[in-house]
Amino acid sequence: MYTHETDWQDWRWQFRNRLRTEAEFSKLVELTDAEKQALRNPNFAVAVTPYFASLIDKNDPNCPIRRQAVPVSEESVRKGLPDPLAEEEMSPVENLIHRYPDRVLLIATETCNMYCRHCTRRRRVGFKKKAISQEKLNNAVKYIRDNPNIRDVLISGGDPLTLSDSALEKIIAAVRSVAHVQIIRIGTRAPAVNPFRITPELVNMLKKYHPLWVNVQFNHPREITAEASRACALLADAGIPLGNQTVLLRGINDSVAIQKELVHKLVQIRIRPYYLYQCDIAEGIEHFRTPVSLGIEIMEQLRGHTSGFAIPTFVVDAPGGGGKVPILPQYLICQTPEKIVVRNYEGRIFTYPEPNHKRKEE
Ligand SMILES: *Cc1c(COP(=O)(O)O)cnc(C)c1O
Ligand code: SF4
Repeated sequence: MYTHETDWQDWRWQFRNRLRTEAEFSKLVELTDAEKQALRNPNFAVAVTPYFASLIDKNDPNCPIRRQAVPVSEESVRKGLPDPLAEEEMSPVENLIHRYPDRVLLIATETCNMYCRHCTRRRRVGFKKKAISQEKLNNAVKYIRDNPNIRDVLISGGDPLTLSDSALEKIIAAVRSVAHVQIIRIGTRAPAVNPFRITPELVNMLKKYHPLWVNVQFNHPREITAEASRACALLADAGIPLGNQTVLLRGINDSVAIQKELVHKLVQIRIRPYYLYQCDIAEGIEHFRTPVSLGIEIMEQLRGHTSGFAIPTFVVDAPGGGGKVPILPQYLICQTPEKIVVRNYEGRIFTYPEPNHKRKEE
């Protein structure tokens, strides 16, 4: 499939040689009927880097890597919403989503290194080849400049790390030119699906724009390979704080044991687990959804049982654009002006007195 070790480690080679067709996947695994049918459906965006495909366990049709990468016919089920988070309604200018008062999400491109089968933005990801145009970028930056409340810009997509260093730098530099933008974040799945994208040249460019944070998406401990670890070490060594956003996916990572192993592996490569997402009610991904009670159970089994910084926040993205809502096990049992009653991670009950003085008027 590839000629030299250097090709394999070249992110552009990985990108150019992504698996897309039934014929290409057939060389790798024995496809199920549900997979064959889906690979013939032109409405699904499919592309998997040879690197990520190489992590598939060929003997397991339910392999967690395979389930994230190879489509199945259930994706045609028309349950759910095309745009569950009402992102299109919250878009004041093209390519910008403004849902919260002080931060915006900038869609830098609709291309990804891999099209995740569970993508919540699948309605618009993977069909247009081009990155944001100069004109749309100018409009987005103008909107940010005209809104002094915006102190945090999240550059996302698609995957911004499908762009060249120079194309990405143009976007980051434009955002950085706005004085009231305090922090820039990049959301990318490259360290998991095309780790060769993280090069010394890229991190040298990124670190010119500090404070810059990067959020990644690892969903299963098997994604944390030597290659992914090396990519994250380069980013972390450049002083870039790393966070992880995992999607809770039925049949892929829907157990306490997998989630615990995942967060432990993440902190070993200096990534702070940030969010654990309930899978959205987006059209085509109903088969991946888990009951909310599973997420609560996972949180219950993490808090107190492992390092505090290894624990993500479990969130449900409220349909219709309500934003992320944290969901926690119930630790506060009762609350009066004099005291609260709480339980700890072992289920032991404690009474905690309130101070005698009242809260100061605000
Ligand atoms: C998730 C998200 C953000 C960032 O939210 P944080 O909780 O600050 O990470 C911003 N804008 C949109 C539209 C989002 O979906
Ligand atoms: S990398 Fe992100 S935007 Fe791209 S397909 Fe995966 S989840 Fe969707």
